[in-house]
Amino acid sequence: MTDANEFKIIKDLLPLGVNLLAVSKGHHHESIRKLSSYGQLDFGESRLQEAIPKKIDLNDLTQLRWHFVGSLQKNKVRGVIKEFDFIHSVDSLSLLERISRISQEEQKTPNIFLQIKFRDDPNKGGFLQQDLLKSWSKIISLKNINLIGLMTIPPIALNSYQRKDLFCKCRKFANHLGLKECSMGMSNDWQEAIECGATWIRLGSLLFGKRQSQINC
Ligand SMILES: *Cc1c(COP(=O)(O)O)cnc(C)c1O
Repeated sequence: MTDANEFKIIKDLLPLGVNLLAVSKGHHHESIRKLSSYGQLDFGESRLQEAIPKKIDLNDLTQLRWHFVGSLQKNKVRGVIKEFDFIHSVDSLSLLERISRISQEEQKTPNIFLQIKFRDDPNKGGFLQQDLLKSWSKIISLKNINLIGLMTIPPIALNSYQRKDLFCKCRKFANHLGLKECSMGMSNDWQEAIECGATWIRLGSLLFGKRQSQINC
């Protein structure tokens, strides 16, 4: 994983207004503690069952902010609302409605990114632009939702130009909707995402190294 110097080099490359989310899924809680000692506060996890024990081990670090980035199953919504401050992966109206209802019950107001896909892809979740527009008045009327931005993940087969095209479409669409944040860019394409106006880049392997498939926290 990155040492203090390497971490500073990455941070110094980020323009003002670009936030770094350290995606710690598949990594031990001690790696999170180490990165937090360099000043990193935002961490991303993709599975509730993995995040809960890590958060217990790190509960002395009260200033950390937790972001859920994985695909969110209905039966995990309550747990995710309780444990996470941000959700990057809200990919349907029914899921958003459930988050709103349970957030009211839990008296929480999570920060929400809506996941967008710019071409139909049965393997990937996400709103299509036209569906989001159709549901927009409903979406903005939902209670206990702090809608802050859009999130997108380009299909893996794309080249650099095609990825940038999608990232720039995402930025334009967020602007059109009046949303400030764009969560886009991972270890292999974060510079492209920044060129197109990302405000949150989500880095896993670049910060932590290769992921463990099985970890015992
Ligand atoms: C795992 C993951 C990342 C980090 O991926 P890297 O390629 O390791 O940087 C970012 N975003 C999401 C949604 C992820 O699931």
